[in-house]
Amino acid sequence: MNEVMRGKKTTYFRSWITIIMSLLAMVLTGLMTAYWTWVLEPQLMAKAEVTARALAQSHVHALADELESVEGDVKNNDKIKAMEKTMNQILLLTDPNTGSPFILGMEIEVDYGVVRVPQGELDLKKGSIGADDFFVTEIPLYSKATRELLGIARLHNSREFFYHFKKDVRLTFFVGAGIGLIILVLAWRVVIILFEKIENAQKKLQEKQVQIVHAGRLAAMGEMASGIAHEINQPLAIIRIAADGLNSYFSAKDSQTIEARAAKKIISHVDRAADIIENMRSFVRPRPDTPELISLAEPIMAALSFFKEQFRIHRIILTLSIPADEIKVRVNPQKFEQIVVNILSNARFAVEKKGEVEGTGYQKEIIVCLSHDAKDNLVIFEVKDNGIGMKPEVLERCMEPFFTTKDVGEGMGLGLSIVHSIVKESGMDMEVESIEGEGTTFRIKIKGRG
Ligand code: ADP
Repeated sequence: MNEVMRGKKTTYFRSWITIIMSLLAMVLTGLMTAYWTWVLEPQLMAKAEVTARALAQSHVHALADELESVEGDVKNNDKIKAMEKTMNQILLLTDPNTGSPFILGMEIEVDYGVVRVPQGELDLKKGSIGADDFFVTEIPLYSKATRELLGIARLHNSREFFYHFKKDVRLTFFVGAGIGLIILVLAWRVVIILFEKIENAQKKLQEKQVQIVHAGRLAAMGEMASGIAHEINQPLAIIRIAADGLNSYFSAKDSQTIEARAAKKIISHVDRAADIIENMRSFVRPRPDTPELISLAEPIMAALSFFKEQFRIHRIILTLSIPADEIKVRVNPQKFEQIVVNILSNARFAVEKKGEVEGTGYQKEIIVCLSHDAKDNLVIFEVKDNGIGMKPEVLERCMEPFFTTKDVGEGMGLGLSIVHSIVKESGMDMEVESIEGEGTTFRIKIKGRG
């Protein structure tokens, strides 16, 4: 599948997950609120009512007895006083945990057909009625002897009591629901993070694929270049023969004319071109993968032959420090040449880049140095540039295959990973030091062999 399409699909999925999770969260919140409002709260209310009723019930018989035995004048009647006392006791019933009253007020409605008092004279009301009613519980008052209905006691329950009654349940319910919601949000975040990771991985994969294709193209070009170099050799040889002929002719005449000097110039430039071509061919020519006892000056100079001209054109000062009596080491010369080419190529890029920013006041410099540490018998090869340098995070990753900070076409991120693998397989040691904006030093240490 096309990478762009895949990326779009991931973004599309991510949006859908966000929408689905948000809907889920909204539905869950709605369901919880509805469950609380229409199921749990009515259940709790019924339970609170039953509790209040049950507690009041134990006093109701006494109330009925007093009501049944009341007679005649209601004023200063002992039975009425007893009845008021019982009512007060009901009103004093409280929740032992919270101290909040179960019932705020109560009133008794009497059946005057049964109770023997003049109609309208017995009006028993106690506590606060109607002010803060939450629900009203009605308890019938029956005669113990005749089982006749004497009246109804109406209990006005307290909101405070109900509030305490449901407090614990509400806390448990909403804490549980809140935890559910938090888990949902976390799950959503995890899914989003996973999608982001997949997206990033796909993007990286896409970049690597572009780099691999580019690497393949360069490899094909390298092969073509070696063929072309071979073909150029022939016309060069002919030019050389012709220039030699001309030179012999002018030498015989001891001529110092412009033409005589031009013939000499042709010979020297043809020789230079032939050298470059020969170096190029030897660089790509497959050789046995065996280490040889050599002086490192050889592969270093061979690698430098590719750069000397470029350094001159781009005004890069190359300082070479290679001692004549260099200690020999056991390495594969072609591989070491590859190491030097890759490191020099990066050094050139780094000073060029810095030059683009700094302008004419900046002097591009590359130092190539070979030395011997007699104490540990180590041959040390060092390339130091005063280019752009690396940020710590780049320095940390610069050896990774396909890691590059360069634009497409400028680098594939393979140079240093190749250097690293050659250094490892050949038992050498490598150090890289770099300071952003100041420059970079690559140092390779190889065991000396006398
Ligand atoms: P490439 O040169 O194709 O990017 P390399 O593996 O050779 O791949 O280098 C990886 C990265 O290391 C480069 O993109 C660059 O950021 C950093 N780097 C390597 N050498 C230097 C240097 N001399 N100066 C600054 N940065 C460097």
